[in-house]
Amino acid sequence: MSLDPDPEEMRRLARLALDRSLDARTRIREARVHTPPDPTELQALLDEPLPRQGLGLADCIERFHDRVLPRATRVDHPRFFGYVPAPGSFASAVGDLMAAFANPFVGTWLGGASMAQLELVVLGWLREALGLPEAWSSGILTSGGSLANLSALAAAREACPAPLARQTIYTSSEAHYSVRKAARILGYADERIVALPVDFEQRLATDGLASRLESDLADGLVPAAIVPTVGTTSTGAVDDVTACAEIGRRHGAWIHVDGAYGAAMALCPEETAIREALAGADSLTLDPHKWLYAGIESGCLLTRRDGSLEQAFTGDGAYLQDLPRDAVNLFERGPELTRGGRALKLWTLLRGLGVDALADAVRHDQALARRAADRLLADPRIRLVTPPRMSVFSFAVPGEEEGGRRLVDALHRDGFCFLSSSRVAGSFVLRFCVVNHRTTEQDVDETVDRVLALLDEQPPGAD
Ligand SMILES: *Cc1c(COP(=O)(O)O)cnc(C)c1O
Repeated sequence: MSLDPDPEEMRRLARLALDRSLDARTRIREARVHTPPDPTELQALLDEPLPRQGLGLADCIERFHDRVLPRATRVDHPRFFGYVPAPGSFASAVGDLMAAFANPFVGTWLGGASMAQLELVVLGWLREALGLPEAWSSGILTSGGSLANLSALAAAREACPAPLARQTIYTSSEAHYSVRKAARILGYADERIVALPVDFEQRLATDGLASRLESDLADGLVPAAIVPTVGTTSTGAVDDVTACAEIGRRHGAWIHVDGAYGAAMALCPEETAIREALAGADSLTLDPHKWLYAGIESGCLLTRRDGSLEQAFTGDGAYLQDLPRDAVNLFERGPELTRGGRALKLWTLLRGLGVDALADAVRHDQALARRAADRLLADPRIRLVTPPRMSVFSFAVPGEEEGGRRLVDALHRDGFCFLSSSRVAGSFVLRFCVVNHRTTEQDVDETVDRVLALLDEQPPGAD
């Protein structure tokens, strides 16, 4: 008995799924970016009793495209400028499609050497594309930046000679929450995860880092890791990695750069400052599903400390005794054993399009962010709070927090474009983040026009 349909039926259904998917892909600009979710409506739309008898795959394909996708928030929409968008790309989807059908196991060398080799090839390409030296020969593909940060901090914890209770981790108050989350999972007490203040440009204040480190050392604590961010999620700020490394290295601290958003800028060879800064760290998180245009889920950890991930993750188990010990077993570089063909979507992306095309897309996004800022600022009601850095800027509107919240709500109800909010030095701001190779100048201009039109409708002090 097989659960699969016969070959003819398989082809028919696969074509249907592809046709509907490509319709959604190519007509995305006509779709709403976002529909404020109504739990009662969604329940009525999607709840069904457990199907004892199958309802058929064609029905599943139609139902997903008719009912689910139209109400989804489209983070790949050319007018989605919230958070850090995840645009994906056709080239990456082709790789994912092959991975879905091939269903490879990429946990051990014995279980799938050719796919493991493909992952090593992709890791090597990413290293080279970011301008990192050959010594950065280890790494792993993860589901995202959170797991990459977790894996890096696990390696740092193992590499630190002090007992866990005396180890400390330093980052900034602008670091992504996944850093603290990872440290907590790894057993660090909250007071051992130090979020240091930032300077007026939202960068980790390195003089504060140096003095805090000295006083902690005097108290018998040992710095396990310093985690600067290259491209903070809120405002694109770039911490001084080189200064962090100088301060931390003396005391044996591991320097882990969270570049989940911003490391992609190093794809551009002219970005020499960022490339050199990254090369001075011990490990780097990047998130190909953000600014490298890979599909969700695609994260990556690279490190120049060969063997350190294995030290943190090598397991045992009698049923794994056949594994050759001298080969790369990817399950020994991260928390997962069974893991799929994550490399494929990056392989099709990098091999199919070439890294120069990705660098061009990064430059394109930066230019569009600058354009959006220029056009918005031409309106006297808009106050720039942080300038375009990476490909994000933030601004305030009349009425400060109240006015800002009203505008964000109005944008989300409207569904034409999507912006999200944040806080800079405690004040409410709207963010405009461009990470999408499909976004055009027209998309940006129409979004700016819509923001200003909604401001007209929502004068401060309305309600
Ligand atoms: C998005 C982001 C993360 C988390 O990555 P996920 O892929 O969402 O798990 C971590 N750090 C920074 C700076 C980010 O922007």
